[in-house]
Amino acid sequence: MTLPLIVVTGAGGFIGGHLVAEFRRRGGCRVRAVDIREPHDWYQRFPDVENLQLDLRLREACRQACEGATDVYQLAADMGGMGFIETHKVECMLSVLINTHMLMAAQEHRVKRFFYSSSACAYNVELQRSAKVTPLKESDAYPAMPEDGYGWEKLFSERMCRHFAEDFGMYVRVARFHNVYGPFGTWDGGREKAPAAICRKVIEAKETGRHEIDIWGDGQQTRSFMYIDDCIRGIQLIMEGAVDEPINLGSSEIVTINQLVSIAERFADLRLERRYDLSAPKGVNGRNSDNTLIRAKLGWEPSIPLERGLRETYDWILGRYRARRAGERVTV
Ligand code: NAD
Repeated sequence: MTLPLIVVTGAGGFIGGHLVAEFRRRGGCRVRAVDIREPHDWYQRFPDVENLQLDLRLREACRQACEGATDVYQLAADMGGMGFIETHKVECMLSVLINTHMLMAAQEHRVKRFFYSSSACAYNVELQRSAKVTPLKESDAYPAMPEDGYGWEKLFSERMCRHFAEDFGMYVRVARFHNVYGPFGTWDGGREKAPAAICRKVIEAKETGRHEIDIWGDGQQTRSFMYIDDCIRGIQLIMEGAVDEPINLGSSEIVTINQLVSIAERFADLRLERRYDLSAPKGVNGRNSDNTLIRAKLGWEPSIPLERGLRETYDWILGRYRARRAGERVTV
């Protein structure tokens, strides 16, 4: 009997790499990992997996990726943290080519199940003006006024998923991820997100003896951050589950950016002089995930405490930082 073939796109990136690792651990399937980057630049790469370098903006590449696939996990996107998405709106919107061609190819190849990674950036920004947030529930995406560029693309692609399901009977699941963090993800170079950026800055301060830190915005912005292990578990539950509408996948443990810095400082056993850059991209003032739906429908929600997940992330970035300083070639 041939084993089912699981395709993970964006597998050279942070979440895709962890997803491939999870399928390998579980066994009982073949895995195809696809990314536009060369495999030696991937965060996680496994020799016993079929590793393909393809530009999924192209229709033919998507056909190749989906050929023979049982399940597809579509995580490929041109994206990054606020510093990237606020200044690269075209690149972010062009991910619509990836999503369009992947859905078309999945339908052509009669893929059994399709997972799409949407984002909390699909939510109406008007509801995120204050740091004192009301957690976002799924229906808050409409009336639509998402994050410019990246968020509009996500919302449009969610909608396309919905119509592929309605018109062609495709099995499609969509999760709206809220800030995911953990080891084996972007930690430098301009695409990194707040948890990795803050860990790196604190590490830099400790290692160089310059005890100061630049913080984007006034540090009062509120967010929730989901550890990667919760994200991977949530993806599995959502793919298997009965919820065929976009559903939140995020932690509801809310913190300010200042609190996030304080946690990283504790790991380093340091107090830094904080300099606030009010002109830097900082995103919305407040955002949190309302987990009522996921609790009710899947009997589960992300629960790994920030302090625990951030410790793992900090230690991993410290290792990478030191390896780079020692002259090793590292993926950032
Ligand atoms: P990531 O940047 O680490 O991974 C995305 C991968 O997609 C990268 O390795 C990149 O090379 C690849 N890619 C880009 N363009 C491609 C193309 N044309 N063809 C093939 N591959 C291409 O990002 P991530 O954090 O792992 O995010 C995965 C998915 O989850 C993305 O769709 C992202 O929008 C979504 N998401 C992530 C977060 C988060 O906090 N990390 C939050 C919300 C949504």
